[in-house]
Amino acid sequence: MAKASAKSKKYVYFFGSGKADGRADMKNLLGGKGANLAEMTNLGIPVPPGFTITTEVCTLYYKNKRRYLPELKKQVDSALGRVEKIMGRKFGNPGNPLLVSVRSGARSSMPGMMETVLNVGLTTKTIPGLVRRTNNERFVYDAYRRLLMMYSDVVMEKAAGIEPEDGHGIRHKLEDAMDKVKKAKRYKSDTELSVDDLKKLCDEFKVIIRKTLKKDFPDTAQEQLWGGISAVFQSWMGKRAVSYRKIEKIPEEWGTAVNVQTMVFGNTGDNSATGVAFTRNPATGENMFFGEWLPNAQGEDVVAGIRTPNPVNKAGKTEDTRHLSSLEEAMPKVYKQLFNIQRKLEKHYTDMQDIEFTIEEGRLWMLQTRVGKRNGQAAIRMAVEMAKSKLITKGTAILRVKPDQMDELLHPGVSPDAEKKALELAKGLPAGPGGAFGKVVFTADDAESWAKRGEKVILVRNETSPEDVHGMHAAEAILTAKGGMTSHAALVARGWGKCCIVGCSALDIDLQTKVIRVNGHTLREGDWITLNGTKGRVYKGKLDLTAADPEHNRWYKDLMKWVDQVRTLGVRTNADTPNDAAVARSYGAEGIGLCRTEHMFFEADRIKSVREMILSDTVEGRKTALAKLLPVQKGDFTGIFRAMKGLPVTVRLLDPPLHEFLPHTDAELEDLAKDMKVPFEHLNAKNKSLHEFNPMLGHRGCRLGVTYPEIYEMQVQAIMEAACELTKERVKVIPEIMIPLVGHVNELRKLRDLTVSVAEETMKKYKTRIPYKVGTMIELPRACVTSDEIASAADFYSFGTNDLTQTVYGLSRDDAGRFLPFYVENGILKEDPFISIDTDGVGYLMRMALEKGRKVKKDLKTGICGEHGGEPKSVEFCHNIGLDYVSCSPFRVPIARFAAAQAALKGKPGRK
Ligand code: ADP
Ligand code: MG
Ligand code: MG
Repeated sequence: MAKASAKSKKYVYFFGSGKADGRADMKNLLGGKGANLAEMTNLGIPVPPGFTITTEVCTLYYKNKRRYLPELKKQVDSALGRVEKIMGRKFGNPGNPLLVSVRSGARSSMPGMMETVLNVGLTTKTIPGLVRRTNNERFVYDAYRRLLMMYSDVVMEKAAGIEPEDGHGIRHKLEDAMDKVKKAKRYKSDTELSVDDLKKLCDEFKVIIRKTLKKDFPDTAQEQLWGGISAVFQSWMGKRAVSYRKIEKIPEEWGTAVNVQTMVFGNTGDNSATGVAFTRNPATGENMFFGEWLPNAQGEDVVAGIRTPNPVNKAGKTEDTRHLSSLEEAMPKVYKQLFNIQRKLEKHYTDMQDIEFTIEEGRLWMLQTRVGKRNGQAAIRMAVEMAKSKLITKGTAILRVKPDQMDELLHPGVSPDAEKKALELAKGLPAGPGGAFGKVVFTADDAESWAKRGEKVILVRNETSPEDVHGMHAAEAILTAKGGMTSHAALVARGWGKCCIVGCSALDIDLQTKVIRVNGHTLREGDWITLNGTKGRVYKGKLDLTAADPEHNRWYKDLMKWVDQVRTLGVRTNADTPNDAAVARSYGAEGIGLCRTEHMFFEADRIKSVREMILSDTVEGRKTALAKLLPVQKGDFTGIFRAMKGLPVTVRLLDPPLHEFLPHTDAELEDLAKDMKVPFEHLNAKNKSLHEFNPMLGHRGCRLGVTYPEIYEMQVQAIMEAACELTKERVKVIPEIMIPLVGHVNELRKLRDLTVSVAEETMKKYKTRIPYKVGTMIELPRACVTSDEIASAADFYSFGTNDLTQTVYGLSRDDAGRFLPFYVENGILKEDPFISIDTDGVGYLMRMALEKGRKVKKDLKTGICGEHGGEPKSVEFCHNIGLDYVSCSPFRVPIARFAAAQAALKGKPGRK
């Protein structure tokens, strides 16, 4: 029965002549490329006819030990028949041969990962027929040499699992052979190769292929076709595809589709061309048709960066490309048609499209459209402009920008001052904006291993290929000598928001000796360079980078305005200094969710008093030391309150184990003994006695306040005195005093009483009243479980998800480095719980604490102040469980606001 249903199943989807079996929303089945080829066909856009073999076939292929179901061949033959009918040509027919491309196409685009073979169907038998039909022998042999190169590389070598050493692959050998001819004849470009050159080259290629791969090049159309189809499926499990999937978290079960499509030729002469374009500028977001083209070229030529491509239109010319002829000028009619098609596509898909086209003898064909990759700046600008022109809603605009893209905007650039004084080595194309410095490395493997040992590296290549992806990921930035704005390096870097410069032709890279000669300078492996990816400039040395400046970006500001309109979750910041507080406020923080008081203790002028306090044996001694600290702490609070005037400030009372503040050396201890006028031995013994076996679970948090109440008394007094004095100056202060590490309600009750009594006393002294709150951190499982008791003594909760994660997992974060990465790599944990909240475990306890707490106290204010507060998925979780706010480091505040808006748009009601 299962067999019968499998038999009737459709595995092949046809498209051509204005009608297609598939649609854009069938990406899962047809892959992105196939679904969009079908959609474009249905829209009446000229697409060469062909068919798509579904992703299911890929999955079945692997299930069936790399064999196809018999009905696949039938369905392929029948679809091929329809194509032949439309084209009036026959596949493998010597008189009038049809040629096809075999193209991969997964659900989401994997740039360059899966291989495409062009010109399939050219054999010694069909060559004469094609020559007769086109009357263009040069073109036919150019197509044949391309087939030989691509097919032997992709099908006969890579898909066969052969892994030659770097530089020894079949493709390299064939390219070397071609370069030799070009050099001997002093040709600058491939297009200068004559018919005779090409004929000889093709013969030579076949010999090299047989010698290297121990196999003849297949000489029947059918053999080539099925070899190509299998190669696409094989490459799904190839090393590079697997590693890219791992980085991008694409599941293996998805599989890839295969597209078989009639060849159209951009390489028949100067009336033909090929190109890649974007409906808007993917680097800046500007609403301007933007692209590159090459006359008399085929397929990958633009992307591979073999020749420097021309801009498609006049508006896209830069200083460096001004002299090149645009398509707009060279073929105005075709350009107009292309322009209209790209408008139509953007309107239809309501997003920026990345398109491929080929012009054969003046006739335009569309070969691909997909949602284009873009960097953060462009993503924001496009989303905002599309919403303003009503192409999309504001909500869609917010959802369309990814948190990582927002993050990019908040990334550093090269300091303009440093840049003025720096030694400029070369110019290139600005493919990925931002600034970065690093040490020069020459191979992807080096980039990866150097980065692993903590070095910052810049990967320098002639051009990049999918083999380099792991190294590109590890590098701070990427620099290539060849290639245009749509080259592999540019596409991949843009997708990751990485700084990147391509087409830096002044670089003369010698891989053998690992030396770069550039405009009279020499760079060696390990030398520092700095890239300005926004301007396309390469500098010698390590230049200063400047912080990002999103506040001067008007699209960012518009978007953030909309963000604040839709989000219901508050966003505060973790700040310990007036400066941090001011920065965070400028980024839109609505208060301080965590002000740690201990950082203030570490400063040189204070640490002595702190040590004195800790090491004294008596309450009196401690009080004397604390009295010295009081004015200092008060000063800190004054600064922070002032910076945050009118906004709530949550101050956490002393939390870490005391011994963290103690002297480390005998010299320090001696010095202190002198100051305190106690014998060194005595102090040394006391110092040792404070040692703890497990400080994370030791004498810290509220346990300090319970045993040494005078410490907390001083801190509360400092907070309240600062607040009272500012109130008298008419600065509005909203202090929230937070007791850390509470596990039992009695701890909180005792310290709440202490806090209230000091606060009341202080306010009486100043004859003023301030609305203050007393709350607690929730960071122990017991606090969550007994939250109904704890809430009775708390005005607010702040989830300390760092410690809560440690205690729920029974896992010390500082020791987790030995095994946690292994857990994540091997899928035991999907994610590091210190990065993204473990919603099932830690999250479950948070929900329980909220529910129990709010039952007792309906208006209990709740927030989170762990590192998770700035992580988009955790922010979404916090919104969904109904917290009032998240608190994160100042630089994460915009991301948190943004993630909160996305969470609200995704539909859950949140708190308000
Ligand atoms: P990728 O996914 O790497 O972009 P593609 O399948 O899109 O691979 O093909 C690589 C190149 O070959 C592209 O430039 C594409 O436009 C070109 N190409 C693919 N099929 C054809 C065809 N039938 N006729 C002409 N050019 C083609
Ligand atoms: Mg490719
Ligand atoms: Mg493509």
